[in-house]
Amino acid sequence: MNILVINAGSSSLKYQLFDMVRERVLAKGKVERIGMETAMLTHEPADRPELREVSEILDHTAAIRKVLRILTDPKEGVLRSIDDVHAAGHRVVHGGETFSGSVRIDDDVKREIRRLYDLAPLHNPGALTGILAVEANLPHIPQVAVFDTAFHQTMPPASFRYAIPHVFYKKHGVRRYGFHGTSHQYVSERAAELSGKRPDELKIVSCHIGNGASVTAIRCGKSFDTSMGMTPLEGLMMGTRSGDIDPAIVPFAMDKEDLSVSEVNSMLNKHSGLFAVSGGLGDMREVLEAVQDGDRRAKLAFDMYEYRLRKYIGAYAAAMNGFDTLIFTAGVGENSALLRKTVCEGLTFLGLRLDAEANERGGGGERKISTADSAVDVWVIPTNEELMIARDTFRISGGRPLQENP
Ligand code: ADP
Repeated sequence: MNILVINAGSSSLKYQLFDMVRERVLAKGKVERIGMETAMLTHEPADRPELREVSEILDHTAAIRKVLRILTDPKEGVLRSIDDVHAAGHRVVHGGETFSGSVRIDDDVKREIRRLYDLAPLHNPGALTGILAVEANLPHIPQVAVFDTAFHQTMPPASFRYAIPHVFYKKHGVRRYGFHGTSHQYVSERAAELSGKRPDELKIVSCHIGNGASVTAIRCGKSFDTSMGMTPLEGLMMGTRSGDIDPAIVPFAMDKEDLSVSEVNSMLNKHSGLFAVSGGLGDMREVLEAVQDGDRRAKLAFDMYEYRLRKYIGAYAAAMNGFDTLIFTAGVGENSALLRKTVCEGLTFLGLRLDAEANERGGGGERKISTADSAVDVWVIPTNEELMIARDTFRISGGRPLQENP
């Protein structure tokens, strides 16, 4: 059974095609600048060179048509016909309180994703457009929605409620939802497997540190608390997002700089974080290079980034009355030995001992980076949200090709 995994944004769309019998990626790629004459398709078939094509792609339906054409192209393709795409799985950022797991998409699900636009105005519209575009091109295949928020629906009210008047929760759904759920779930389940334990035997702190970054406390295999909130702005300092600030800064900044709601939103989401503190570097690799060159603003940005992450890990250790597993994943978490080292050196009071050599060893891949006598196992586990989406889609759409699945 072949499953097409789609991650659609407002003007871009990423895809991966999985053969679920062997759980193998047949091809992946992306379409960028949808809506423009110079839209670009990047296609990477497994074991063959990447290919790029620039052409006019005016909407998501045309983008999916283009993807299906390249997937079935006699030379560059990996499928004989589009009938060999048996189901599609979509990443949807916000599932609100409605979705605590992945679901097969029907009219009610589409309506609900649309109703949640208010909570995720930058993300959910793109996802729904992707769903409709697949439907337009492949009307007969089952489609499944996998939500970034779903894994966190197990949080208790003491974790997810904000201490503001009840009406905001009741009437407007203001609460902590958390994001990166698919990633936190994937790496925590992998850590359990690699440790030879069941997820319910572990207390895990999972750090997804990419452009966006969040930490999750996972107790008995369930999300217990997480650093992102009603939106992905709360919590850790990120590439261009502020993370936690005193909420009084928002009206203060609006007043002093005469900012509108959208301007203050943009300031906090796009012009803050590493970017603001370092003086224009929003990418961790650039920050690390500048630190090497002796740049003091970049050094402060790195120090703040690391310090805030370490504080969250300490807070979640307290939240769960201890922990036994720490996981680093995503772009920075998987690749920056320096960040992991600095964080772990400040957690020795918990009995955590880093294996310096294992931490420095490059090459990627899953690996334990703590010593045998460490009280906490520390893992680097590359995330794989697409595989999680493909697995859920496989399970929910019956795990059988369409012709056996009326
Ligand atoms: P996204 O949230 O967009 O999926 P990623 O998980 O790809 O982001 O992470 C992107 C971040 O990872 C960037 O800040 C990038 O600089 C950082 N990164 C990638 N490789 C390295 C590396 N070798 N060392 C440090 N940071 C890295």
